[in-house]
Amino acid sequence: MTKQPKDSTVLPCFSRIDPHTIVSELEVLIKGNIVKLNEILEINREYNWENLVMPLTEMDDILGKFWSPIRHLHSVADNDDLRKAYNLCLELITNYSTDIMQNHELFLAYKNIADSKNYLELNHVQKKVIENSLREFRLSGVGLEQHAKDEFKKIVQELSSLQSKLEENVLDSTHDWTKHITDLALLNGLPETAIDLAKQNATEKDKPGWLITLDFPSYYPVMQYADDASLRQELYQAYITRASDQGPGSHQWDNSNLMEKILKLRTAKARLLGYNTYAEYSLARKMADTGEDVLSFLNDLAKRTIDIAKEEFQDLREFAESQYGHDNLNVWDVTYYSEKLRQHKFNFTQEEVKPYFPVSAVLSGLFNLVGRLYGISVEEKNNVDVWHPDVRFFEIFDNQGNQRGGFYLDIYARRQKRGGAWMDECIVRKNVDDVLQQPIAYLNCNFTPPGDDRPSLLTHDDVTTLFHEFGHGLHHMLTLVDHPPVSGINGVPWDAVELPSHFMENWCWERQSLDLIGRHYKTDETLPEELFKKMLLARNFQSAMQMVRQVEFGLFDFRLHYEENDYTQQSIQQLLNEVREKTSVIIPPDYNRFQNSFTHIFSGGYAAGYYSYKWAEVLSADAYSKFEENGIFDGNTGEEFLHTILEQGGSREPMDLFVEFRGRKPSIEPLLRHSGITNTA
Ligand code: ZN
Repeated sequence: MTKQPKDSTVLPCFSRIDPHTIVSELEVLIKGNIVKLNEILEINREYNWENLVMPLTEMDDILGKFWSPIRHLHSVADNDDLRKAYNLCLELITNYSTDIMQNHELFLAYKNIADSKNYLELNHVQKKVIENSLREFRLSGVGLEQHAKDEFKKIVQELSSLQSKLEENVLDSTHDWTKHITDLALLNGLPETAIDLAKQNATEKDKPGWLITLDFPSYYPVMQYADDASLRQELYQAYITRASDQGPGSHQWDNSNLMEKILKLRTAKARLLGYNTYAEYSLARKMADTGEDVLSFLNDLAKRTIDIAKEEFQDLREFAESQYGHDNLNVWDVTYYSEKLRQHKFNFTQEEVKPYFPVSAVLSGLFNLVGRLYGISVEEKNNVDVWHPDVRFFEIFDNQGNQRGGFYLDIYARRQKRGGAWMDECIVRKNVDDVLQQPIAYLNCNFTPPGDDRPSLLTHDDVTTLFHEFGHGLHHMLTLVDHPPVSGINGVPWDAVELPSHFMENWCWERQSLDLIGRHYKTDETLPEELFKKMLLARNFQSAMQMVRQVEFGLFDFRLHYEENDYTQQSIQQLLNEVREKTSVIIPPDYNRFQNSFTHIFSGGYAAGYYSYKWAEVLSADAYSKFEENGIFDGNTGEEFLHTILEQGGSREPMDLFVEFRGRKPSIEPLLRHSGITNTA
């Protein structure tokens, strides 16, 4: 029998986190870390894994375990005191990590290890940790001459403030515009909930009648349901010209100048580090190798999808004409008639399937499924310190009975919790000197809580979301990598990290697995075949149109950061128009300034990386196709996926792992097939 390591996992005490003391506690922690770091750098002349990487990893791990529960509470149980403390802490941590990444002495110490004879004796995980660290130092400008280093720092600071200004402009221009309505007839077609929201908006502003805003929950139902075409047109124009020089609102939030500056600064930043373009700099951290690879990937998707997207659009056109006598579709008609066509074709709503997905059945089905695939079991543990009575804690065991990790499940929507669904790390796996720290995850969703007389019932979208986040969770929890910097999702490139999550979604669309996860909450019946068929048909409604739209965003983003461009408002617009020629089923009006509110790429982390969404979907669809070949519950294939993908974390290149699992490089076919774009198997 192999000797079991000692378990050192300590779960956070959420009930004891005090917003009034966390800032000073963090200050002490950071000061201590800096003292330790300086000691390490002073004592040693020769560096190795034990005297540098291990103590630094330990320092990071302690800081991580302190910060993770605070960051988490800020997301799920926010209050004024906590928010104030959180923001102060965030600033401290950002400054601390910038200083570390620009510490030249520390960089040389890492380099010293990489250049030493001892390096060859390290295992591949240790080498990857050092390799990644050196890359991050370099990408933070540590290796530059002093004047270039100063310039780099200045660019980083300037970019950060320009990007956040750009985002504020989008927010402010979104909030600046409203449409006050006093005649309810204008809102004909809208569902009750959307009308209530408009009423509520008006009341909040002390106005009679109804108020439509450009916030998505207010804007989108109008585009989807409002029978009045001129209302849709007005709203569309206001929405698509936000933060620009066009449109009805004020132009004081025009982002055009900021976009030019941001793009120029990004190029300058990349050039300082020796890259030609910002796209090349961005790819240094990604799975995709070259710009040409990304471009041919996106162009190929566009080429193979555009004709089908045009057919879908033609269907829509004919439908609007034959059923509604509307013979010329405008951009603001597309969502509206699409919704009508969807109802006409499939007569399917999410409400219909909800009774078949009570939370308890979905969870036990999900646990049963991963048990079959990976030989693991999931058990609930009671009496764990949590932040809300609804939160549950589970432990995961492998087929030898060894614990592999644990997770908090916080599934219901409530105030003080941010929207959406996400997985976050609580504790990262670490295994040093026979002392093991288990990986612990937070899984968060915003589903409707149970009612007085019924359990919480999920829509099929909810079920898919839960599976997606659980996929991220398994990637974090089933890792067997011992060193935190590349353990679980750590060190996994941006364009590969969605593989295990998209992957899990596939089982939500199979008859056999739906029978595991869906049981009517009153009758215990499985999903009726007729309903399942409708659901499947509705799955790929206009999927080619959606695909080309994503490709349009991806191509615009990537070419913008990859090709020679003098970055003026005109040249940016011209590039977008060029991309649209190849990817759009309908050319928008000249006033369209979509790009001015495209915060994903201008202020978020998706710059030269928007393609990642589709990239990871190709990987997950292709990985899943192996299960389609071998049987969707095939334990051997599951075990292979477990060993080659889930257990490896960021310790190896994702392409190598993929090839090891699939036996070849990724193919685009399964994604096209799953999206109903090609029928060939
Ligand atoms: Zn995800």
